[in-house]
Parts: sequence; C-alpha cells; structure tokens
Amino acid sequence: MSAEPIQKRKLDHVVPGARFGRLLVEAVVPAPDHVFGKVARRRPWVSALCDCGKRKAFIVDAIARGDVKSCGCKLREHRKEYTRRHQPVNRKATGKNLPA
Ligand SMILES: [Zn+2]
Repeated sequence: MSAEPIQKRKLDHVVPGARFGRLLVEAVVPAPDHVFGKVARRRPWVSALCDCGKRKAFIVDAIARGDVKSCGCKLREHRKEYTRRHQPVNRKATGKNLPA
C-alpha cells in the first residue's frame, strides 16, 4: 500500500509524450505570463499540442484531473452545434451602431 496521494500519482502521468483526450503533452514549460495566481505560478505547466493543431500551455493539475481534454476546440465545436440547433429568433444585427 502506498501512502502517496492519488493526485500525485496522476500528476506523474502528465509527461511529454502522454496523451489526454485531444492533447499530446510536449514539454514542461514555465507558467504563462498571464497567470498571476501565486499558487498557479508555482505549479508545473506543460505545453500540449491539440489534435486541431493548436499548441497551448496547461497547468498540470487540470490535465491530471481530466478537466481539460482539448485546447478548447472541443468546446467551440459543441457551442457551434448548440447554436445551430437553437437558432435565435428575431435576433437583430448590431454591427451598425455607429456613434452619432
Ligand atoms: Zn484543439
């Protein structure tokens, strides 16, 4: 029996070459500049290549937990599908609101 927390073991799986959903982990990278949280900045980050061709940095915890499985394209596809099935009715075009 190992006393090692389950999360630690899962984090160990987030290594270059490992695949999580659409993401292929490529390398360990420093936290991106837009990340300001002290805790988040201290965590390891990895750059991962998505099946759609996009490369993005992820905090390892999110991948280990299974929170992220794509760069976001999966979510976008889902949203597109949703909008197609729920066409907004009488939606006005708002692109021509020029200042007077
Ligand atoms: Zn993607």
